[in-house]
Amino acid sequence: MQLIHGPEVAAAVLAECEKDIAELALMGKKPGLAVVLVGDDPASRAYVRSKDKKCRDLGLHSVKLELAESTTQEELLQVIAGLNADPAIHGILVQSPPPKHIDESAVVMAIDPRKDVDGFHPVNVAKLALEDRSGFVPCTPLGCQRMLLHAGIETSGANVVVLGRSMIVGKPMALLLMGKGRGGDATVTVAHSRTKNLAEVTRGADILVAAIGRPEFVTADMVKEGAVVIDVGINRVEAPELPKGYKLVGDVAFDEVAPKCRAITPVPGGVGPMTIAMLMANTVKACKLSDK
Ligand code: NDP
Repeated sequence: MQLIHGPEVAAAVLAECEKDIAELALMGKKPGLAVVLVGDDPASRAYVRSKDKKCRDLGLHSVKLELAESTTQEELLQVIAGLNADPAIHGILVQSPPPKHIDESAVVMAIDPRKDVDGFHPVNVAKLALEDRSGFVPCTPLGCQRMLLHAGIETSGANVVVLGRSMIVGKPMALLLMGKGRGGDATVTVAHSRTKNLAEVTRGADILVAAIGRPEFVTADMVKEGAVVIDVGINRVEAPELPKGYKLVGDVAFDEVAPKCRAITPVPGGVGPMTIAMLMANTVKACKLSDK
């Protein structure tokens, strides 16, 4: 059984970014990322801090905007308009979820698609569906595809089951894997909460991507012998025996599933670090594509 280590693959992605950043510097360009946080949710704050740190470590221009919980939608849209117009900023990310009084889809629509490094704007969703590579693909599924490539897993002709159909993970994952060319060409089935005979469906998978947000939901009986399993889930479960009182587990019951697998990603240490690495890669791409 091969363990696909997220930090190792993420390091390879970041090394490529460093090379690109050095080349861009020769042209007088420096990729810039703005991360906007509205409110003071501690988990979101921690994510924003780690994105800002990763940018700085890489030598990217990083702007971290922390706005009060009381920020109105109009004020947030004005901030985004300012970032759209700022030539030093190539990527804009508004940390999700925003406070309840803010319409998330209006926020996504307000971001210039050329700076939408999260890949959530309808223009980028369409580009992914159209296989137009000038668009931005959501970071987590892009990272999963990269892990498969790095681990030498052939996707062409493989039966893939994507468990989950969210716009952030499941749907773009399915589009990427069914797309033509390297890292794609798979026969993709998307399963969700209405899927009948789920275990039968998942047992048909040569490659199973689990992204449902249910701790250790995928059990050994749901996985074919020799399958490749990518576990996107990050779930906090109580663990009174640990000092923190909780632990993180994936959507896959790792201990029982791993022995059946040809390859699997652990949680933590799997997909998690890929998301931020692909955010950096998307920001570098946005800078390369921009004329500023
Ligand atoms: P969502 O809640 O948006 O979507 C979950 C999907 O899973 C839905 O399509 C839902 O079906 C499906 N689902 C839920 N329960 C079941 C079930 N019992 N059987 C079959 N399908 C089910 O979640 P996300 O896509 O945003 O995230 C999924 C997981 O990935 C979470 O654990 C999240 O924390 C993690 N995640 C990790 C990231 C990382 O960086 N590693 C980044 C993003 C997410 P339906 O549509 O029918 O409701």
